[in-house]
Amino acid sequence: MTIGGEALEYIDKKFYDLAIGIAPLEVLYDGCRWAEGPVWFGDGNFLVWSDIPNNRMLKWVPDLGVTTFRTPSNYVNGNTRDLQGRLLSCSHGARAVLRTEWDGSVTTLVDSYQGKRLNSPNDIVVKSDGTIWFTDPTYGILTDYEGYKSEPEQAGCYVYRFDPADGSLTVVADDFAKPNGLAFSPDESILYVSDTGQSHDPDWPAHIRQFSVNNDRLGNPRLFTDVDSGLPDGFRLDTEGNVWTSAGLGVNVYNPAGALLGRIKTGAKTSNVVFGGPRRNRLFITCSQYVMATYVSARGLQRP
Ligand code: MG
Repeated sequence: MTIGGEALEYIDKKFYDLAIGIAPLEVLYDGCRWAEGPVWFGDGNFLVWSDIPNNRMLKWVPDLGVTTFRTPSNYVNGNTRDLQGRLLSCSHGARAVLRTEWDGSVTTLVDSYQGKRLNSPNDIVVKSDGTIWFTDPTYGILTDYEGYKSEPEQAGCYVYRFDPADGSLTVVADDFAKPNGLAFSPDESILYVSDTGQSHDPDWPAHIRQFSVNNDRLGNPRLFTDVDSGLPDGFRLDTEGNVWTSAGLGVNVYNPAGALLGRIKTGAKTSNVVFGGPRRNRLFITCSQYVMATYVSARGLQRP
């Protein structure tokens, strides 16, 4: 199944430089309950993502299709790779950040802060110095649907920085309702973090904030953009610093100043995106039960 060019909505002329008007939106898979956490493996030419309520991770290989990557997955949500290419995963079930080693074994990197269990790590990025930054909202312990229903032990929902070199874990932001997606700007001077608190209270935010990055600390928080439709669950940046974020029934694309340039309308509740393919110009989109993909003119930023 494909959805033709009508999936694109142009709001600013700049979007003509970023999207491809004739590129269809292709459905690669439609059998998830809630897909999230897409991560591209360029070395293996495949995509891995999480199907959280089904407690599994799936893998898509071009021309071959979809197979099970891991089940049970311990309710893994967000995924990325470290500088050595190892898979890093946020596990609701383990309430931990996990690393898959080259031999396939899974190591728990961090599961507590100041002697208390984390809530349920959600999304994760790696900085060029090897440090791991992740968000820890309560989504994975609120119900038995996406993890194990449990009481939070932390006083809030924080954004953390973990240094695998020395095992240190620090809170870098503590004023979120539900911190969710996060990503660095091209020069890593800015960290973008979304707050999707509106999922559980209409008075709470649905926006993305920017923080200035000063080595291991964040400062100068400011609003990047309110999202006008749905929640900015997860996002990635392109090499020009434009932000491609989930937003309700599709993907919104914002320039570095926070202006909305255009949309890719998936028609399904959209969670996360990742750039992939040999030229990083294919945008993979997890949305409700689907994984979709479309080619774009932009190129993804993330490593490896
Ligand atoms: Mg998320």
